[in-house]
Amino acid sequence: MIVIMRTDATRDEISGVTATIRDLGLRAQRISGNQRTAIGMTGDVSNVDESRFRALPGVRDVVQMTQPFKLVSREWKPDTTVVEVAEGISFGGNSIPIIAGPCSVESEEQITEAALEVRAAGATLLRGGAFKPRSSPYSFQGLGVPGLEMLARASERSGLPVVTEAVDPEGIAIVSEYADVVQIGARNMQNFSLLKRAGDIDKPILLKRGLASTIVELLLSAEYIAASGNDRIILCERGIRGFDTSVRNVFDLTSIPVVQSLSHLPIIADPSHGTGFREYVPRMALAAIVAGADGLMVEVHPDPVRAVSDGAQSLYPAQLAKLIAQAREIIPTIGREVTQLDAAVA
Ligand code: PEP
Ligand code: MN
Repeated sequence: MIVIMRTDATRDEISGVTATIRDLGLRAQRISGNQRTAIGMTGDVSNVDESRFRALPGVRDVVQMTQPFKLVSREWKPDTTVVEVAEGISFGGNSIPIIAGPCSVESEEQITEAALEVRAAGATLLRGGAFKPRSSPYSFQGLGVPGLEMLARASERSGLPVVTEAVDPEGIAIVSEYADVVQIGARNMQNFSLLKRAGDIDKPILLKRGLASTIVELLLSAEYIAASGNDRIILCERGIRGFDTSVRNVFDLTSIPVVQSLSHLPIIADPSHGTGFREYVPRMALAAIVAGADGLMVEVHPDPVRAVSDGAQSLYPAQLAKLIAQAREIIPTIGREVTQLDAAVA
């Protein structure tokens, strides 16, 4: 439930509403917006009598929420959230950042080369997993903390901020020391203890849609992070399981406008995991942008044939350069732009 205050409501009137909410044993939260002053309440609101709030001085309206997720919903906050992840790089605004890099950090040389190449191609952030959530326990699990250190050096060399994954609640603190954005992958989208810990850390979270999750489940997972105290959340569509074995996943581009209508959070698209094959990635990346994606995540490897994970869906750096050049031509036609970094490669 949201209490909307009159534009001329006094500070005392606003505090009166907040106190009444707390007296009911609920959480009150001021919702900042351009158009209105509102106070949202979370907790078990099923027995709350809205007329009690309508009678309070300064109150203009009381709105019932229709969605099971609250803090991340557009009902709660009509303005799109802009998540700044580094100076000049934000998700959710007019400018579209491109995250690129290998699936996994494999060696110092590999991640450094990848970083310099994706930077030269026009990417804005570097990706690479040091902790890998693999379907098989026998697959490469990542280099761990030494991999994070390699990423940090590659970040410094290239000037690109880093997106990297945390796979368990115990590991998220160390990952967040190295990451500019902490990724929670598809396999962990409903790891609720990890989501709660993500609420404690002081870095933006990139939350990927689960392997077979609905849009509402994705938003409820984001709600866990927000309810635990971190509202810097970026969602990611990365495809869901389908029956067709011609592709790795069904890349659900419809989820982009649907999420944007239901939630104020930004959503980006990952056509690499979405399709599973490098030949399909560039066109689906452009399609995602036209569908309204607030950013892209693309796997790129200096030598994809030798990649230890996801080589078949990883672009060659020259393909990324071509994709970004095409995106720069197409995006202005929908009134947006590709984020560009100013400084030259170190
Ligand atoms: C990844 O980004 O490399 C990854 C493991 O993605 P997902 O969680 O979407 O499968
Ligand atoms: Mn991958």
